[in-house]
Amino acid sequence: MSARLSRTSRPSCPPSPTGSPSCGATPPIAAAHETEPDVRYIRQEIFEPIGTEGQHKISAASAAIVGCGALGTNIANNLARSGVGRLRIIDRDFVELDNLQRQVLFDEDDVRRRMPKAAAAVEHLRRANSVIRLEAEVCEISSANIARLIAGCNVVMDGTDNVEARLLLNDACLASATPCVFAGAVGATAVTMTLVPGQTPCYRCLMPELPAPGTTPTASTAGILHSTTAVVAALQCTAALRLLIGAFEPSDEVLCVDVWDRELTRRRLPRRPDCPACAHHRYEFLNAAPVERDTAPPGTNSVRLAGRLDADPGCLAEAWRGAGTVVLNDWLVSLRVGEHEVIVFRDGRCIVKGTADPAAARSILNRLLSLAR
Ligand SMILES: [Zn+2]
Repeated sequence: MSARLSRTSRPSCPPSPTGSPSCGATPPIAAAHETEPDVRYIRQEIFEPIGTEGQHKISAASAAIVGCGALGTNIANNLARSGVGRLRIIDRDFVELDNLQRQVLFDEDDVRRRMPKAAAAVEHLRRANSVIRLEAEVCEISSANIARLIAGCNVVMDGTDNVEARLLLNDACLASATPCVFAGAVGATAVTMTLVPGQTPCYRCLMPELPAPGTTPTASTAGILHSTTAVVAALQCTAALRLLIGAFEPSDEVLCVDVWDRELTRRRLPRRPDCPACAHHRYEFLNAAPVERDTAPPGTNSVRLAGRLDADPGCLAEAWRGAGTVVLNDWLVSLRVGEHEVIVFRDGRCIVKGTADPAAARSILNRLLSLAR
């Protein structure tokens, strides 16, 4: 990570507290709600347990959606259309072709434009609901930024795909007394549980320790059905609406779904009296120093490189002109040469596609950087 390139002007979209462009602006055209009676949420208001009063609470609420993949897109789609007043969508990745099977907010144009998932989700959802506030955070969550990212939110929605991220979320939500609706899905099965700090068991009661790398199946290694994530995300969003209107009954249950065998079961999750997080308030994942390491997620043939490249995407795009296929947007630049692709985000993160070997990835990065004129 030795490249030093001068910076060009920033994109016109103003930066958010995490450095990525913020997308809360109102579109300039007249929206449907300005020209027609405001009946947007009428079916939801007719539903007696919510009613007009419940809808007002939903419209006044804020939610953070952490991870905008299969779960996160279904969650964001549901909560935006349900009228949650402010949605902060947080994701580190960009849209790829193999996401489209289940990540409902994205399309082939997002793939071509290498759109970050959070920004693409906001772009699509703004067309569905222009009266709520939508914020995109294109960044990797860590112990250094998670408290800021969920600050001010009434509920946190887990759209992540790994235990480490959930344990961090669990700590952050306990520390800030914020409810969190967790879920995990692989193949045709999924589980979901809702943490209400002080009232329910927490995620660490379910998963006391971090499993060894590569020992738990993921969507990349064991596959995933669209219906699995759609069903469990719907259950998560229903729990969120109940939380937001004050109709959630805290429980010590984990809900388990198997969409292939058509099973929905409840299992008791006892609160662990020795749980470091919810019993002793020791937030080991939140208080740990952020650790960066090269990671090669199984089944993706790509490497996320540790460290930050001090190079502006706009400058790189200019310098790479003619070297291969270059895509530039407000958040990243990508260069594809043959079977290899390098993606450099505005915050300096780098992903190399076409290998799962970190050493080879660094070599590819250096080779492609050397093509810069
Ligand atoms: Zn616990």
